[in-house]
Amino acid sequence: MFEKVLIANRGEIALRIHRACQEMGIKTVAVHSTADSEAMHVRLADESVCIGPPPAAKSYLHIPSIIAAAEITGAQAIHPGYGFLSENAKFAEIVTEHGMTFIGPTAEHIRLMGDKIAAKQAAIDTGMPVVPGSDGGVKDEADAKANGKRIGYPVLIKAAAGGGGRGMKVARSEDEVVEAFNTARAEAKAAFGNDEVYMEKYLTHPRHIEIQIVADGHGNVIHLGERDCSLQRRHQKVLEEAPSPALNAEDRARIGQITADAIKKLGYLGVGTVEYLYEDGEFYFIEMNTRLQVEHPVTEMITGLDLVREQIRIANGAQLSARQENVKFNGHAIECRVNAEDPRTFRPSPGKITGFHPPGGLGVRLDSAIYSGYAIPPNYDSLIGKLIVHGRDRAECLMRLRRALNEMVITGVETTLPLFRDLMSEPDVINGDYSIHWLEKNLAAKAEAES
Ligand code: ADP
Repeated sequence: MFEKVLIANRGEIALRIHRACQEMGIKTVAVHSTADSEAMHVRLADESVCIGPPPAAKSYLHIPSIIAAAEITGAQAIHPGYGFLSENAKFAEIVTEHGMTFIGPTAEHIRLMGDKIAAKQAAIDTGMPVVPGSDGGVKDEADAKANGKRIGYPVLIKAAAGGGGRGMKVARSEDEVVEAFNTARAEAKAAFGNDEVYMEKYLTHPRHIEIQIVADGHGNVIHLGERDCSLQRRHQKVLEEAPSPALNAEDRARIGQITADAIKKLGYLGVGTVEYLYEDGEFYFIEMNTRLQVEHPVTEMITGLDLVREQIRIANGAQLSARQENVKFNGHAIECRVNAEDPRTFRPSPGKITGFHPPGGLGVRLDSAIYSGYAIPPNYDSLIGKLIVHGRDRAECLMRLRRALNEMVITGVETTLPLFRDLMSEPDVINGDYSIHWLEKNLAAKAEAES
């Protein structure tokens, strides 16, 4: 096993990886920018290296500094976490070229899934159901119109290099398609430096359901069921749960098997998530994430498996620690993403945390790197913690989550905790009856009622 792992990330996920390493007897190296000298991941790691100034491009995304930090400290492997360099195929290659192990899939698979047009083709080739759409990229305005007519409105124009819900535009009729095409292209160019776009049928009431898979290099691939991430804002997840209130055991086994079989055909290695939209009993592939997801804890809570530990073991050449028939789903789990943001406008709210009281008790897990007196820098993502709650069934889980949310206190900065407290009394949330559009509609209706 590795003796020392460098964690190329920050915040709660750096801590999450550190914890798995500690339990495996592996020493950790934290890297940090000058804005994060006092961060918890730096304090807890066995060693730390400052890799640059606050802007991520000069620190957490700066490959030469990270490689140098790994070489100086003698780390044998690098865990990229999520975000930052986790889906950068070049980084995976460079790590390997320097004689270290990249804890994640091969550069080839990262590259394939990072190009969403190629990914969709791979999904078709391996038997995963996809959203009807353009055959590859959309070339020009005339092509956009022709595709719109063939697919049928409404349509969604998406960036081939997309991520984080950016560069997506809806066109509801032929009158809107040219403008949507041009805007999506411009946004894609600005955000990803690549203006290639493609088109899909815009689904009007789907749920976002994703399948967690784990594959070792020995031909074993298992699925760990689904996560329902339908509560979203601006195409970004806000609350996730497992199992989905919309699926029965048969649907779960069916889509899980289709996905595991496809991943096996691809020869994939490591953990990954295949994201689908689910509408009127049908699944439609939208993308695959070749990394650990923010919401991985809900799967851990209902399966008892440590996904980071699996990642590290697989990267070290071990076989999966479980077979499909040994995977048992136990109870229900929900995760709330606690962001340092105004709960109404969602504007980031960095600054000093003056008081912090974490919730506790049976079935309550808090993955966070904050502490009382910690100053949240303005340079990074506003996620400051994830509250994950487990119950024997969904009703118990909701009751416990409501209780935990009421216990949790963060003062000094605004957080999205009030939003989650409000959601706990929404009948549709209680009944699990929501599509990907529910939260935005609900927030818009509330803003309307207040004005
Ligand atoms: P990204 O890589 O930017 O996260 P995804 O393809 O994963 O993009 O889509 C993100 C979200 O956008 C989905 O969870 C869903 O809410 C919405 N979305 C994507 N494709 C469609 C579609 N064809 N119809 C309706 N909504 C969609």
